[in-house]
Amino acid sequence: MTQYDKALICVNGHLINSGADADPDKNSAFCPQCGAATITACSNCNQPIRGDQYDDQFDGVEFVGPHKLGFRSVPGHCHACGKSYPWTQSKAEALGEMIEELDGLSDDEREKLKVSIPDILADTPKSETAALRFKKAITKVGQAGGKMLMDVLTNVATEAVKKAMGL
Ligand SMILES: [Zn+2]
Ligand SMILES: [Zn+2]
Repeated sequence: MTQYDKALICVNGHLINSGADADPDKNSAFCPQCGAATITACSNCNQPIRGDQYDDQFDGVEFVGPHKLGFRSVPGHCHACGKSYPWTQSKAEALGEMIEELDGLSDDEREKLKVSIPDILADTPKSETAALRFKKAITKVGQAGGKMLMDVLTNVATEAVKKAMGL
């Protein structure tokens, strides 16, 4: 059976401890990197954030205790209720604010970009379309605006989206 330790992550998305139960000495109330508060559970449904993964291990005859598989990556959304974690919400806000700041876009283009934000932050069937939309926007908003938008996207987009955009 697969089991998970709790992960301690700051609200800006920095991983502090992927084994909050197994190694509580590493836990801290605030993030050493950015000073933000840390959490170990979803604020919506209270389910723990998945940390280090463990599998039961048998030596062929009997159970020899859980085998640590390690930590995958900071999740964007709660596995139990689907709500985005605070760091994902901050990324969505940052991208939304950036879209408002850019020159050279029509209201319709701005709206379409905003609708595509969730598909930039998570890999979905619409991610490729979203990547194409943002790629077009980068060429429309001038050099300075395009660079700012690329910087934010580099920070918030999934690896697959970045690849589709050539970032
Ligand atoms: Zn932090
Ligand atoms: Zn949840």
